Amino acid sequence: MRAERVVLDRWNPDPSVIARAGAILREGRLVAFPTETVYGLGANGLDPGAVKKIFLAKGRPSDNPLILHLCDPRDARSLARVDERAAAMMDAFWPGPLTLVLPALPVVPGEVTAGLETVALRMPDHPVALSLIGAAGCPVAAPSANRSGRPSPTDADAVMADLDGGVDLVIDAGAVDVGVESTVLDLTEKRAVLLRPGGMPVEKIAAFLGETPEAADKNSARRSPGTRYRHYAPVVPVRVWRGGELSPDVDPATSGFIGLDLPCGGFARAIVFDSPGNFARGIFAGFRRMEADGVLCIVVQWPDAEGIGLALRDRIRRASEERET
Ligand code: AMP
Ligand code: MG
Repeated sequence: MRAERVVLDRWNPDPSVIARAGAILREGRLVAFPTETVYGLGANGLDPGAVKKIFLAKGRPSDNPLILHLCDPRDARSLARVDERAAAMMDAFWPGPLTLVLPALPVVPGEVTAGLETVALRMPDHPVALSLIGAAGCPVAAPSANRSGRPSPTDADAVMADLDGGVDLVIDAGAVDVGVESTVLDLTEKRAVLLRPGGMPVEKIAAFLGETPEAADKNSARRSPGTRYRHYAPVVPVRVWRGGELSPDVDPATSGFIGLDLPCGGFARAIVFDSPGNFARGIFAGFRRMEADGVLCIVVQWPDAEGIGLALRDRIRRASEERET
């Protein structure tokens, strides 16, 4: 069965559609919806049966926990132990692309946490997402609305291409703003740990905390299971370009290029962005576009590590890596 797709005005979403979508979530069914980062595949985060449907629709490994999305920071206290530092960060950064990992309260289903003792929480900065979560009246578990391992969807077309059939309703409110997923920060220990770079620049988090979060290493891969998997990848191979001559085994005539500075002429397709922010906003749609155009290889520029560049590097690295598991 094809998923129903409904178009909403981002700034003024039709309340009757939002109410219906909220009811679908409450009934334990799935709704794909926009956030400021990427489109999410939402389910009632307190209903284990509904959460299981997310894993099924995405083909997501069940040991990869989900983020619970809230429409009010006060709701965090009924799901997690919120200390002073966590409360201050919610105050400073929510709504926004920052996910906080905190000690979970027993009410959070093991399907959400993948059996961990922690839960990941975020309040998205998108009027449609916030009104939907409010209408559902529950925390909304929502990973990106793509088949597991594929590029994240930054518009409703990408959601339909990957998940049509696996979802009850797709809310289309146009392209997203940020284009890469949220920054995931573990606050369960004294020193904050950056589990995944994302839409909230780590420089802003460091300035707030007065210290740079610890970088996630091999050990913290256990704490953030999602980082173990290959991700964000188109079906054609992705090659990283770090400047200089193109590798001789890349033929521009059959390849696509995505980045900020074109290495040479003659690419079959090229998407050249004018800023790192636009690069982030357009990279996943660029992957999908080039895949559809039939290029044999996608060359992606390795950006500087500042600001959104750190998240871009992470996504590019994962998209170009061989599968680890
Ligand atoms: P996604 O929703 O697909 O963008 O992925 C969510 C990310 O958050 C994945 O990398 C998860 O492993 C991570 N995550 C979710 N919950 C937790 C948690 N309780 N502890 C650590 N990482 C988490
Ligand atoms: Mg994802």
